[in-house]
Amino acid sequence: MYKKTIVVGAGASGLFFGAAAPASAGRDILILEKTDKIGTKLLMAGSGHCNLTHAGSIKEFLLCYGKNGSRIRTCLYKHNNLEYVRFMESLGVPCSEREDGKIFPVSMDSRDVKKALLEAAASNSVTIMKNSPVTSVKALSEGFEVTIGSTESNGKNRKQSTYTCTNLVIATGGASYPTTGSDGTFLQVLKNDLGLKITELHPSLSPMYVQNYPFEELSGISFKNAGLKIFNKNSKSLEAEGDLLLTHRSFSGPLILNNSRYINTGSGVEINFVFPYTVSSVLSSIKEVFRGNNKTVSSFFAEKFGLPKRFSAKVLEPLGLSEKKLSSLTGGEMEVAARAFAAAVFSVSGVGSFREAMATSGGIALDDVNLSTMESKTYKGLYFIGEVLDIDGNSGGYNLQFAYSSARTALDAIYT
Ligand SMILES: Cc1cc2nc3c(=O)[nH]c(=O)nc-3n(C[C@H](O)[C@H](O)[C@H](O)COP(=O)(O)OP(=O)(O)OC[C@H]3O[C@@H](n4cnc5c(N)ncnc54)[C@H](O)[C@@H]3O)c2cc1C
Repeated sequence: MYKKTIVVGAGASGLFFGAAAPASAGRDILILEKTDKIGTKLLMAGSGHCNLTHAGSIKEFLLCYGKNGSRIRTCLYKHNNLEYVRFMESLGVPCSEREDGKIFPVSMDSRDVKKALLEAAASNSVTIMKNSPVTSVKALSEGFEVTIGSTESNGKNRKQSTYTCTNLVIATGGASYPTTGSDGTFLQVLKNDLGLKITELHPSLSPMYVQNYPFEELSGISFKNAGLKIFNKNSKSLEAEGDLLLTHRSFSGPLILNNSRYINTGSGVEINFVFPYTVSSVLSSIKEVFRGNNKTVSSFFAEKFGLPKRFSAKVLEPLGLSEKKLSSLTGGEMEVAARAFAAAVFSVSGVGSFREAMATSGGIALDDVNLSTMESKTYKGLYFIGEVLDIDGNSGGYNLQFAYSSARTALDAIYT
C-alpha cells in the first residue's frame, strides 16, 4: 500500500505531527506505532501532569539542550513556546505557567493533552496503526519501503506487511524507559538499512551514583543552589550550578539531572554545598569568628551557611570534627572542613541507566540532518523529529518543546 507520508512512532512528536498536519493532507498520513499504546511517555511526562514547555525567551532555551542547543535555533525560533501554547489552547487544552516558569495544562493531567492531540489527528483524517513495529526500511529510487514485522495482538497474528511512501518521518524517540516502546533499537535498523550515522547513546536526566555515598539517611534534603564541577579524562572540566537533592542512593535534583549527559562512570566530581562560597571564603568566615568561639564546628556550619544540622554533622563526623569546638580547630583542620563543604570530591560509579533516565543524549547525528527542515542530507524525503535526534533538553518542558518544534518544522517542509 502507498501513503504519501509515513511516520514511525506515535509518541509525543508523532502525535504533534498528526495533530498539526493540514487537514487536506491527513488522509495521506499514516502513523505506525510498535506497541499497543499511544503516547506512553507523554502520559508519564511531569509525573502525569505534563510539563509541556517553559516560559521565557527562546534565546534562553538554546542553553537548555547541552552543546547542541545552538544548532536547533531555527527550529525553536520558528515554532516557539508561545506558538506551542497557542496550539494546545486551540485544541481545548488551556495552559498555565507556574512560578518556576514551567508550563502545564491547567488540568495538570497529561491524559487531556494526549486526548486533544488524538482528536486533532483524527479530525485531520490521520490514520494511526498500533501493534505495527517497523522492522526494516529500504530507500527506493523515489521514496521508501517500510516493513512492519509480524505481531500478535489479542490472540490475532498479523502477518508481515510492507508500505511505500514518498516521505518517511522517524519519530521513534530515544532509549530511556525502554518498556514504553522507545528503546533505541530502531536506531540500529536505520544504521544497518540506510547507513545513517548514530552518535553514542548516553542516559540524560538521570541521577548520579558515587562511590561510598555517605548520605543514605539524609534522603530528601535539598540545596537551593549548589555548585558542581565535572572532571572527565581527556576533556576540559565543566562547571554548573543549580538545585541539588540527596536521595537514598544518589545525588539528584536539576543540577545533576541536567548535567548527567556529561557525567560518566569514572568521572570525578566536586560538589559545593555552600555555593557561591568558595573554599577560601569559607576559610575566611571561620577565621573571622573562631577565636574564643565555643560553638561546635557542625553548629557553626549549619548556622552560618543555612545547612540542616544533620547534614553538617554527617559531613564532619568522618573527619572527627563534628563535635569539636570551633576555637580548637587548627589551621589544617579549618581547611579540611572548608573543603568538605565547598569542594567535596566524589568518584562517580555511574549515572542511572536508561531505565531511570528521563531522556537520551545521542542519536541521529545532527551533521547529517538539515535542521531547518529536519530532512536527511543524504536521503530526500527522510525526516527526523523528537528525541531520536542527538538532542536532549534539560528538565522543565524542553524535550516536549523540541518534539513539538521539530514536528512542525518537518510538516512545513513537507506540506508548504
Ligand atoms: C518519566 C518521564 C517523564 C518525562 N517528563 C517530561 C516532561 O514533563 N516534560 C518534557 O518536556 N519531557 C518529559 N519527558 C521527556 C519526553 O517525554 C520525551 O522527550 C518525548 O516523549 C520524546 O518524544 P518522541 O516522540 O521523540 O519519543 P517518544 O514519546 O518516546 O515516542 C516514540 C514512539 O515510537 C515508538 N516506536 C519505537 N520504535 C518503533 C518502531 N520500530 N516502529 C514503530 N514505532 C516505534 C515507541 O513505541 C514510542 O511510542 C519525560 C520522560 C520520561 C521518561
